[in-house]
Amino acid sequence: MFWGGVFGQAAGPDPGSAPALIVFVFLPLAALSIPLDRVIRRALARWFGLPPMSITTVFGVWLSQELTWRLDVPFWYWPDWGAFGNTGFGVAAVLGACALWRSQPRAAMVTIAIVGGAALASGAVVGRPVGPPALWASSLIPVSFALGGWYLRSCRRAGLRAACGAAVAALVWALWDGSGLSWILPPLVAPAVLGTWFVLGFHFTARERRLLMDPALHRVAAALRVARHNQRRVIALTGAGISTGAGIPDYVSGAWLDAEVPVEWYDHSHFLANRQARIAYWDACARFRTLAAAARPGAGHRALAALQRHGWLSAVVTQNVDRLHQTAGSDPVIALHGRIDGTRCLLCGWTGLWPDGSPETETAIRHGRAAGGGAGAGAGVGVEVGSATATAGPWHAHDVTCRGCGGWLKPDVVAMGELIEPWQWKAAHAALDNCGVLLVIGTRLLISTAATLADRARHEGALIVVINDGPVAGVHPETDLTLERPIEDVLPALVGLLE
Ligand SMILES: [Zn+2]
Repeated sequence: MFWGGVFGQAAGPDPGSAPALIVFVFLPLAALSIPLDRVIRRALARWFGLPPMSITTVFGVWLSQELTWRLDVPFWYWPDWGAFGNTGFGVAAVLGACALWRSQPRAAMVTIAIVGGAALASGAVVGRPVGPPALWASSLIPVSFALGGWYLRSCRRAGLRAACGAAVAALVWALWDGSGLSWILPPLVAPAVLGTWFVLGFHFTARERRLLMDPALHRVAAALRVARHNQRRVIALTGAGISTGAGIPDYVSGAWLDAEVPVEWYDHSHFLANRQARIAYWDACARFRTLAAAARPGAGHRALAALQRHGWLSAVVTQNVDRLHQTAGSDPVIALHGRIDGTRCLLCGWTGLWPDGSPETETAIRHGRAAGGGAGAGAGVGVEVGSATATAGPWHAHDVTCRGCGGWLKPDVVAMGELIEPWQWKAAHAALDNCGVLLVIGTRLLISTAATLADRARHEGALIVVINDGPVAGVHPETDLTLERPIEDVLPALVGLLE
């Protein structure tokens, strides 16, 4: 509308040509710009992760201009006024400021100050305004809107980043005007688009840029800010989905189980009743342990550790047993289902490392539980080591037993049909006291432990944020927030917005 007004007036000297111009040039171009917009939008999103903004409009107007020149109907001759005259400057500035004030005041202030300041300063330095003020303002106000109001609205350094964008946009405009290019080709909103792209391209990775266009990510960042401001806890509840990116298969997939062994043998009751089931269980756990030992924390683990380090996240509650959260530096971590590199005595509760014949075997793991459980009981208590090799554990020769009490040892993970250790369950519940936001990451809310903890958080009035690369069942769509995107993308982008 704005540019239509400008060019309509610009075509003024020969009123007779205006209707012909509209029918033969602008209407076909408007029709053409719809499929063109689709192509540009897709290409920008796929290759650069950048928003299209109004770039199709810019191309459309440039194409129109080229065509009208060939038809000998010039319609661009540096009009010294905008669609609404120079009042357009004031109107655009006031409306832009009002719109932005609500979303990201700092970024809005900075961009408008730079845009307006540059317009005024150019008058003093160059002796004339750089371009018509109305065009200048109407072209550069979008950079404030894009950066302040939309892409950076949850961003802590929004002011600084918006300043970069506004400065680049102003510089592009000044160079455009100084080079005389503006007499041939109107800059339109091209400087604003370039300024916005500069900020997004310079400060964010391609994956983060794609995510910045998702309003849900901004809502999560805003929720974390509110929680911190109100001194409420933010808890992450993680499941297998956060570790699949690190090369560990979802154990629900059964990839680490022996296909020859009936699935029910992995149930805890079979471990207690059946020697063959015990061997199968140890074998399966040994395979999983090898995978876990070789894995390195993924981008999701590292991002959660960063959030925790910077005080955005109070604790991680995980269903995973691979210890990748701890390796990434998360602390505290409540491991609901234990640890795959540990063993536990079913009789006295002693915990230690695996019976693989290494010197570590004699080392009890300090588990942070009450001393009464026999944890870390010191020298003399350890594992009876058989003729162990890496491929065939001592469990093939005989049941692995506790040196302290003679009870059976079992990998320190919660098997099917086995209860979560009460102290872990209690710790998870306590972590959810005064919870403001629960980030449910890579786990289905149908699993009873996850569902119970989510309900407990809902009871505390927490916002449930579900992050998973695929649909999650058990979500309350009217209250919960879902981001159906790769965890390795979402969490680092969240860190980028909050840092
Ligand atoms: Zn024991």
